[in-house]
Amino acid sequence: MKDNYGRIIDYLRISLTDRCNFRCRYCMPPEGVEMMEHKEILTLEEIVRLAEISAGLGVSKVRLTGGEPLVRKGVVDLIRRISSIHGIGNISMTTNGFFLEEMAEDLKKSGLTSLNVSLDTVSREKFKTITRCDGLEQVLRGISAAKEAGFNPIKINAVALRGFNDDEIISLADYAVKEGLLLRFIEQMPFDLNHESSFMAAAEIIEMLCEKHGEIEALEYGKRILSAGSGPASLYRYKKSGLITGFITPVSNHFCGSCNRLRVTSDGKLKPCLLSADEIDLRVQLRNGSSDESIRERLISAIGLKPESHELHKHRFGSERGMSKIGG
Ligand code: SAM
Ligand code: SF4
Repeated sequence: MKDNYGRIIDYLRISLTDRCNFRCRYCMPPEGVEMMEHKEILTLEEIVRLAEISAGLGVSKVRLTGGEPLVRKGVVDLIRRISSIHGIGNISMTTNGFFLEEMAEDLKKSGLTSLNVSLDTVSREKFKTITRCDGLEQVLRGISAAKEAGFNPIKINAVALRGFNDDEIISLADYAVKEGLLLRFIEQMPFDLNHESSFMAAAEIIEMLCEKHGEIEALEYGKRILSAGSGPASLYRYKKSGLITGFITPVSNHFCGSCNRLRVTSDGKLKPCLLSADEIDLRVQLRNGSSDESIRERLISAIGLKPESHELHKHRFGSERGMSKIGG
């Protein structure tokens, strides 16, 4: 399926829940957010049906996210069912890693093809400050378990925050090199009021890393190292140490021109763009006896609503939901 700007839409991100065991400061307030009621959340059957209809429209890649996807009951079975859908070649997950130690092996066996773990620091104290949870050791054990289960490469997503983990960037990179992980820095998007003081642009992080790891060269798609796909990240190799890092720059240099994705929130709202307020209710159709054909029509009209670009550069953020409610 192509959208109005000629972009091929083949990637569906599904939020399994708005619940989370962490309270990351760039994502949720300390007290959490008002949770949806259980009946508002799409059932596993509804999610599978949506994935099947999307596959019929050309979606070949599904990512499960949240909230924290691993707190959703039945997630392993869901992966098994989605991975058996004809046309879905890749099913991935973004997780905070807290439950990976116990679940990594089952996730691998169920057909999950790739894993992104969010980790902003390797300091226990800073981890506590950023996530408001004393869970660093648990997450590090989870990453080891995921490696043992055979996930490779594992991508680490780090949000750089001035005043919180800017002095941890080198340690994170060292950890990634030692463990053979692909580290990607994501620019913080303005979901909270403190954004301006903590925001760090990718260029600044690149420079910090250059001091230790040497000059950089840009890597292009298609090189062997990228065989697992780097998504919207620009990848660089540091010449001295060989460190490879990705940078996802929704704020300083958006990648909307190559956007290939649709998102579904855990309550079944389809979002043509993460950063716009548009939402198309799919749940109503999934529950009122609508045919697959009419849901397909609705998906096609949602693709038609994809904007050419978000408007963060004009300091405009269109969505009222935070990341945990949209599914980052
Ligand atoms: N709970 C899972 C996790 O943390 O990986 C999945 C959901 S979380 C919303 C998905 C990703 O969004 C995480 O990598 C997180 O760091 C990122 N994220 C959350 N809020 C963000 C923000 N304001 N700006 C940039 N990235 C953000
Ligand atoms: Fe939870 Fe992920 Fe948001 Fe952190 S970023 S609060 S782990 S949903």
